[in-house]
Amino acid sequence: MLLSRPPPPHSGTERQAGHRVTVRDCQAQCDASLQSDDLARDRGPIVQHPVMTRDRVESGTDPREDRHPPVGCTYLTEGTSMAEEESNPAQTPEPEPELPPYLIETARSSRSKCRTCKRKINKDTLRLGILLEGPFGTGYLWHHLQCAARRRIEDVEAAYAQEAFAPGVSVPPLPELQALKEKAEKARAERKELPYVERAPSGRSKCKSCGKPIDQDALRVVLAREASFGNQVRATPINVHPECVHAELESEDCMTEVEGFETELRQNSTVESSVVDEAFVAIGKLEA
Ligand SMILES: [Zn+2]
Ligand SMILES: [Zn+2]
Repeated sequence: MLLSRPPPPHSGTERQAGHRVTVRDCQAQCDASLQSDDLARDRGPIVQHPVMTRDRVESGTDPREDRHPPVGCTYLTEGTSMAEEESNPAQTPEPEPELPPYLIETARSSRSKCRTCKRKINKDTLRLGILLEGPFGTGYLWHHLQCAARRRIEDVEAAYAQEAFAPGVSVPPLPELQALKEKAEKARAERKELPYVERAPSGRSKCKSCGKPIDQDALRVVLAREASFGNQVRATPINVHPECVHAELESEDCMTEVEGFETELRQNSTVESSVVDEAFVAIGKLEA
């Protein structure tokens, strides 16, 4: 918890009235200083305030009596007060203006990238920003509005419900975007996700790993292999014997990852789970 808190306003050193003053310095003398041991630890060891030390030496009195807060103690005079900080430790000294959780706008430049399709978002294209609050700051992650509709319609619907539209932006009606989602979902359901296991419908297919035929009704595993079409690289399905999966996964142009293989194979296969189990016995142990 201490680590995640933003630094106090005077965690560094400052120059004031010719003295090098740190927060810790003031806290050595100041009665209004740290109430909490946690905060004290947070700021490191307590050392002597230079101003205080000189005053004490010169006047022979305890400066706390007549000079409080002490000279140079900007933490107490202009910083966030202790009481405030303790009641709300997560607050930064100067809070940034609050950003809404969603923002739909036209891209102001062509520099942003869509987090869904990974492609560039061209200037003046509609985009949806989803606020991300991370340890290194707060900002929007952008998606083409259309891409967001296809993959995360809930966020689009929430943005519409909150009318999170930049001033002057004109947006398509929500049902139009919801229709995009329906269409995309249908396409996904029709396309078989790799990898999966099935029974060979005929004896004509050959194992792409060992080159030998795969018998009719024998189990075969369909994996993804890298293939180039012009300058595009795509994953194409290849059939392999369960016994050959291991070798194929290790080959360089295999696009099926060992990591998560078992989960994905179970998810994507439409054969009974006992058949998948049978395939796993033949596949043997895989090492990620
Ligand atoms: Zn996109
Ligand atoms: Zn084989």
